[in-house]
Amino acid sequence: MIERDLRDIASLSRTREIIKKHNLQLKKSLGQNFLTDANILQKIVEVAKLDQATNVLEIGSGIGALTEYLARNSCQVLAFEIDQRMLAILAENLTSYSNVAVINQDILKADLTKIVSEVFSERLPLKVVANLPYYITTPILMHLIESRLEIEQIVVMIQKEVAERISAKPGSKAYGSLSIVIQYFMEAELVFIVPKTVFIPQPNVASAVLSLIRRKTPLVSVINEEAFFRLIKAAFALRRKTLWNNLLHAYGKDQAVKDKLLKILTSAAIDPKRRAETLTIQEFAALSNAMVAD
Ligand code: SAM
Repeated sequence: MIERDLRDIASLSRTREIIKKHNLQLKKSLGQNFLTDANILQKIVEVAKLDQATNVLEIGSGIGALTEYLARNSCQVLAFEIDQRMLAILAENLTSYSNVAVINQDILKADLTKIVSEVFSERLPLKVVANLPYYITTPILMHLIESRLEIEQIVVMIQKEVAERISAKPGSKAYGSLSIVIQYFMEAELVFIVPKTVFIPQPNVASAVLSLIRRKTPLVSVINEEAFFRLIKAAFALRRKTLWNNLLHAYGKDQAVKDKLLKILTSAAIDPKRRAETLTIQEFAALSNAMVAD
């Protein structure tokens, strides 16, 4: 049962009231688009399946619309907010919640493992729930995935087009290196699309809520992760070129390289004339493993 309240921060009138009271000029450069619709927040909390035995990490709490929902529906909330002006506002708006800690720091520079172990009093399952600043969506997701934190699930509001790319299947236009890098570690699902009208100010792009659930083991077994990610990057470097052209561009055009690549592609049963977007993650893994083993 998700708790709600009539005086939620997430309403058009209350958000306007808070902005006016604090004479707040919202910064586009920090991706400040605040959520004003309680129904969307309720759905986000439901997708994250929060309960009192879960801790939550939030990135970019703004004036606290989502933070409030997280505080009501989880054990403890650790929220990062880069804009110092929000601190006093958050303290005032969230005064009735004793389970929220706000850290005034750039999430990309934060030592997450250290801060998480200092802030949370109990070691409970950890989830990330956030309405992300869109200008750094991918760096934030990579920072979280690559951190040593055992994050069970990430539920984030992001640009719709990025959510489509992350959750894309092979053969689709949106499928690319980002889909593979994230799906290697996480099960990705675009859960629902969100209209621009629920934000103040309205963003220029459509939004969507994305759910990422950590896999117990990566989707495919690769001998050398670094080599695998290098191959993915190389294969998608020039989208309109064939796999063969992209591989030569990245690994060299010498006859010896050509011979080696052809041998590897043949052994992995992959036609060099295919485009990268037609290859499954399993095929990329087979290719990478054959390259490493050769
Ligand atoms: N959670 C609020 C909501 O849903 O209404 C605000 C979300 S707003 C899209 C993104 C927030 O992230 C802004 O408050 C912004 O100041 C903050 N932010 C931007 N860059 C950040 C960074 N590098 N680290 C931490 N917070 C950041």
